[in-house]
Amino acid sequence: MTSAAHGPCPAVGEDEAGGLLTIDLAALVANWRALAARVGSAETAAVVKADAYGIGIEQAVSALYGAGCRTFFVAHPVEGRRVRAAAPDAVIYVLNGLLPGTAAAYRAHDLRPVLGSLEEIEEWAAFCRAGAGRLPAALHVDTGMNRLGLRVEAAVQLAENTELLGAFTPSLVMSHLVSAEEPDDPINARQIAAFSHVRERFAGVPASLANSSGIFLPQAPHFDLVRPGYALYGGNPTPERANPMRPVVQLEARVIQLRWTPDGETVGYNGHWTAQGRRRIATLSVGYADGYLRTASGTNLKAGGEAVVAGVRCPFAGRISMDLITLDVSAVPEGAIQRGDKVTLIGNGLTIDEVGKRAGTIGYEILTSLGRRYHRRYLPATV
Ligand SMILES: *Cc1c(COP(=O)(O)O)cnc(C)c1O
Repeated sequence: MTSAAHGPCPAVGEDEAGGLLTIDLAALVANWRALAARVGSAETAAVVKADAYGIGIEQAVSALYGAGCRTFFVAHPVEGRRVRAAAPDAVIYVLNGLLPGTAAAYRAHDLRPVLGSLEEIEEWAAFCRAGAGRLPAALHVDTGMNRLGLRVEAAVQLAENTELLGAFTPSLVMSHLVSAEEPDDPINARQIAAFSHVRERFAGVPASLANSSGIFLPQAPHFDLVRPGYALYGGNPTPERANPMRPVVQLEARVIQLRWTPDGETVGYNGHWTAQGRRRIATLSVGYADGYLRTASGTNLKAGGEAVVAGVRCPFAGRISMDLITLDVSAVPEGAIQRGDKVTLIGNGLTIDEVGKRAGTIGYEILTSLGRRYHRRYLPATV
């Protein structure tokens, strides 16, 4: 597998692309295996919503399925259909639940909704009673997020409602952690306790609480199944410690022009970066329309993003444009960079977590914003 057509553009050749995105499926698989080893007898699922966090849902699912992953989580039913096509016998959960009137479409593709309210549960039960049979679905219990899911008291009540629960097959009871990446936040212990209390009421139904960071909490709340997303794609699930995961994504940008900017002149829109002395500027063929967030602009007041050029870290100079980034490459020996060269925007020590921080956001948003104009290269899961 080398590259696949992506997004609205025709597949772009490597030589003509402004950016080259390399996705290491072997690293993805290694990350899944490392998490699976960590959780022992619990099942390790994979969260592949949002096009597998930007890396490509078909490629990610095929690689993970090949490694032994059998349960996938998506946000939308349309994503579930893509997983179904790539993994015909996998178990697929749709986290955003059941939209009114869509039960038949879930059944048609053997998708399991994550039911998060009594209305959804009643609609699924009614669909099952009307002839579909006792179809499986997950139950989402809210232990503190206040976003989706039954409140704990409502879930405890539901557990007594054998008529409603008997109409379908509850195949998973789950909740979601509020602050798993902050192990000192006391809400972790409260959620684990509340979830343990609820899951006991659903005897025989597998239970799931942990996302990527949840897997690494000192309490190890793995229950029967864990739901990592970010860590699979190389994000650091333990932000206060070294990243135990392998990087999956590398992004390189093409240098399309090099120039000398005289002392005191400004670079880019609105002149928010001023050359201190004569500076060499490299203009890259990647911009915010490629998902490189404009909030990573480098101005006189605030450092922004960086790129690695011939082994040297170089700062962004000025505002990020729609299709261009300007980089101060004065620290790079003059002969070491030329028009047409590639510089690294993600990789070579520049992690998605750092790129996120420099843009004032999190690595998750960097991944899910990865552009559609890049040439995409997939390194195979097995060599
Ligand atoms: C997105 C999501 C996950 C995966 O979270 P990561 O932090 O990416 O591991 C797990 N569970 C639910 C309910 C989610 O929405």
